[in-house]
Amino acid sequence: MAVGVLALQGQRAHSRLGVVGVEVRKPEQLDSVASLIIPGGESTTMAKLAEYHNLFPALREFVKLGKPVWGTCAGLIFLANKAYGKKEGGQELVGGLDCTVQRNFFGSRLQSFETELLVPDLASKEGGPETFRGVFIRAPAVLEVGPDVEVLADYPIPANKLPDQYRGPEPDEESSTATVKVIVAVRHKNLLGTAFHPELTADIRWHSYFLKMASELDEGSSNAVTAISAT
Ligand code: GLN
Repeated sequence: MAVGVLALQGQRAHSRLGVVGVEVRKPEQLDSVASLIIPGGESTTMAKLAEYHNLFPALREFVKLGKPVWGTCAGLIFLANKAYGKKEGGQELVGGLDCTVQRNFFGSRLQSFETELLVPDLASKEGGPETFRGVFIRAPAVLEVGPDVEVLADYPIPANKLPDQYRGPEPDEESSTATVKVIVAVRHKNLLGTAFHPELTADIRWHSYFLKMASELDEGSSNAVTAISAT
């Protein structure tokens, strides 16, 4: 079955993904896809459009059924259980990904930037690179994760480069040289979240990771059915 791409803001991300992508705008379209990618955009606008199309109940059901969903940037915000931002409390979320995110974490100082991230899970068995070029565009960050959430990548930044509200009250010598690991990629069971945009690079290893994750979950569910029918 195809991979759905939530296309509320008209993205055509799937054309770059190297998989058969089906644009999803209506709840019933989720029935025809095995997994879903929620791309970036403006999460508050996406939420309004999702509400208008009555997509939230179907999206939550999709997540609850254990189907693989990958949110990038605004998509990560969408999947999070809790999001802080300008319109705190005013934005509806799909939820399911047990973490708290901060919208526009890197603020105006670093609204868009690229950096080399260390992602051990992306290294191939043959000893391929562990690094991935992260493209961050007004990106969120994950502030807190629940016990079952796996951190796949963090971005180490000097404490004195953190946005003002995350710095200690009195930056002393020690805190100005300390490094803070800002979480930027997480996995929680069937849900994957990246704060950056892998689809804007030519490197398709995150897409391969998601497809592998989807096929493992699929195998897991057929094993579960076999186990039930065998008893
Ligand atoms: N800043 C956007 C938001 O809060 C996300 C940006 C993105 O998806 N590139 O929704």
